[in-house]
Amino acid sequence: MTPQTDTKRFPRGGVHPKDDFKARTSGKPLARMAPPAQVAVLMAQHIGASATPVVQRGDKVKKGQLVGEARGFISANVHAPFSGVVKAVEPRIFSVTGALVEAVIIESDGEGAWAEGLNQPQRVESMDAAQMRSLVHECGVVGLGGATFPSHVKLSPPAGSPISDVIINGAECEPYVTVDHRLMLERTDQIIDGLKLIMRVVDCETGWVAIERNKPDAIEAFEQALRGEPNIRVAPLSVRYPQGAEQQLITAITGREVPSGGGLPADVACLVHNVATTLAIRDAIRLRRPLIERAVTITGDGIENAGNFIELIGTNVADLLERQGVRPGANQVILGGPMMGIAQGTVDLPLVKGNNAIIVRRDVEAPLPRACIRCGRCVEACPLGLLPAELSITCEAGDWEAARRLDILECKECGCCAYVCPARRRIVQLIKQGKVELRRQKKKLEKEK
Ligand code: SF4
Ligand code: SF4
Repeated sequence: MTPQTDTKRFPRGGVHPKDDFKARTSGKPLARMAPPAQVAVLMAQHIGASATPVVQRGDKVKKGQLVGEARGFISANVHAPFSGVVKAVEPRIFSVTGALVEAVIIESDGEGAWAEGLNQPQRVESMDAAQMRSLVHECGVVGLGGATFPSHVKLSPPAGSPISDVIINGAECEPYVTVDHRLMLERTDQIIDGLKLIMRVVDCETGWVAIERNKPDAIEAFEQALRGEPNIRVAPLSVRYPQGAEQQLITAITGREVPSGGGLPADVACLVHNVATTLAIRDAIRLRRPLIERAVTITGDGIENAGNFIELIGTNVADLLERQGVRPGANQVILGGPMMGIAQGTVDLPLVKGNNAIIVRRDVEAPLPRACIRCGRCVEACPLGLLPAELSITCEAGDWEAARRLDILECKECGCCAYVCPARRRIVQLIKQGKVELRRQKKKLEKEK
């Protein structure tokens, strides 16, 4: 194994949760269960403009057929996860915002035939970068670590910003979540293939596979598979949240700092893709396979049969929980990890591209927040060097301008500050509220100009 001294970590802040709750599912291979009878495919489940429905009630669709077309460059196509009939185009709740979003409701015909030309080997060796990018765009690939930024955009760095390092993010630093760990063990060679394709698209010679040290079997698998590949290295990472955040990962591996004030990884010659996204990019380029399914960890002390599963996008979350068994006393459902995920008010929701985990917990009591005692722990924990206590106080007071001066817009909502706060202050919720208010004010000002 790689010596401990090779371990990379980000320089400032972060937390190390006492129990990461991964042991219950990390040894469970990804399972494919019977598909649902119906799915609801949301038109807005990515960063950017929502897609426009291109089917209507009564239409027959094939597996992988386009049902929502990207609107503009920063947007993403959405596809039918199985063949069937469109029952309706109507709103459903989007788990990230809680808002109603247009969805295409499809009932399965049980046939499972792919639309013509899809899921077929492509002539990749003769493709140029533009053709590969176009396949990624066509297949609706977005960041599957939760960010959901359209991948074709990330594969198009600005002119004059060459990429020197492509980093595959296998940190999976959020507690409970184990899907990337399983993908790294079960699809090692395909992830490396995806990395090489990404390196070809952006004309880059150095690749990294970054994995936290709590996944020694995955580190071992990649070290074995990468023997004789001098341009691609495995980077073992210290076990510290938020090691998998893009900025922290880049600094840990290259020592470069993404500029504050809206800087991009490309500004420091880096491109980062999550493990699952790399596979989706690979499948889009190699097979012209649209993104219609994703790996999901379903776990928590409120779930009877925890595990890792491949699920169709649009599957109803309530049905998934019923299938796995909900234990008495379960009273909290989080989509995503416990640090950055969102607790849901209902589980009658469709699974979206960004959902990597469903965590069900029992007997959760919401602690009452108290006044700040100025202990400074949140400041120590903030990986960005912000002042979370001050930010929460200014937001509580509605002093948005003061919050702006405290760089509220730099906050990545990682949750480290709230995790360590002994007063259980709702720091992240207050910061989110402040950001929404500042963006609302900005829009209003732009309209008035
Ligand atoms: S949520 Fe924001 S303020 Fe809190 S630790 Fe993370 S980056 Fe810092
Ligand atoms: S950790 Fe909580 S109590 Fe301590 S300074 Fe920060 S906000 Fe205040």
